[in-house]
Amino acid sequence: MPSNSAPLSFDIKPNTNPMPETDRLAAFENLGFGTLFTDHMAVIRWSEGKGWHSAEITARAPFPIDPAASVLHYAQEIFEGMKAYRTADGRAVLFRPEENARRFNESARRMAMPDLPEADFLAAVEKLVAIDAKWIPKAEGSSLYLRPFMFASETFLGVRPSKEYIFCVIASPVGPYFKGGAKPVSIWVSQDYTRAAPGGTGAAKCGGNYAASLVAQAEAYAKGCDQVVFLDAAEHKWVEELGGMNVFFVMEDGSIVTPPLGGTILPGITRKSLIALAREEGVTVNEKPYSFDEWKADAASGRLKEAFACGTAAVVAAIGTVKYPQGEFQIGGGETGPLTTRLRDALVGIQRGQSNDRHGWIH
Ligand code: PMP
Repeated sequence: MPSNSAPLSFDIKPNTNPMPETDRLAAFENLGFGTLFTDHMAVIRWSEGKGWHSAEITARAPFPIDPAASVLHYAQEIFEGMKAYRTADGRAVLFRPEENARRFNESARRMAMPDLPEADFLAAVEKLVAIDAKWIPKAEGSSLYLRPFMFASETFLGVRPSKEYIFCVIASPVGPYFKGGAKPVSIWVSQDYTRAAPGGTGAAKCGGNYAASLVAQAEAYAKGCDQVVFLDAAEHKWVEELGGMNVFFVMEDGSIVTPPLGGTILPGITRKSLIALAREEGVTVNEKPYSFDEWKADAASGRLKEAFACGTAAVVAAIGTVKYPQGEFQIGGGETGPLTTRLRDALVGIQRGQSNDRHGWIH
């Protein structure tokens, strides 16, 4: 598939009817997740034979889309999730955006979509954050969530890769992801549903994975849990990941276990960053399969000290309670453990520009 190499130049068309400042600041008083949006969006189009073109920053608005647009039928769609933070000294920063650009292209390849050059992905995100910089909330735990995505826009009902795509970035000021704030979360172990099979799309960030997870997530809510955790599709035995987060276990000997990246789970950027931070602290991190049976037994024997989930949206959340059809158990007395707290503080410190960014993760 053709992909342009020269960086795209963006046409900047400021919104002539932005939200009044008083309304924006009032909305900041009660931030949820993904309900409030900024004044602009970035858009880049792709057509077969032409490659990427028509890059622009423009007023956020609906897309006119034909009822036969292939995304509406065959779900050829991918996305990313990342955040812009306001540092104490007033800078607007992104956390490891190159990793999102790279993962976006890995998702694109899995879904037979064109690669977007990383420089163009980054330029779209940076230009949107720059024009909507006043939309980055300052309150603790809040940030500007960025949602880059791409979908098949060709008007065509045949089953084959689309010949036209729209790439877009929208932005949403957000507060804490979980309603309980930093309290440990409860999770539901799905027995009836799996998320991704070997050879499937589990490692891609495509909409279809999330569509297939909704009924399991709904079951988790019905059981009074915050999130669902999936077991592997082949044996229904190994712990994989949560609906939208990776999972870590802290053992009695101080080592950490996290499921390996075998193509069925999403390679989280938070996961990768926490593994690096933990190893630098001298903590042994084992990326190895861990079964639900081991999890139950280790929680009962006390060998398991802490468990936590991680991802861009909630950063790091301790797992306090685990429920499954036959029972439930607690981890660490339902409290947030010391290593979970230390790793979360180390990561948040870097993301918010409070600690030395020795890895060059801040952009
Ligand atoms: N797993 C899934 C299924 C996710 O949706 C996410 C969120 N992108 C993650 C893990 C965590 O990934 P990251 O740390 O890159 O946000």
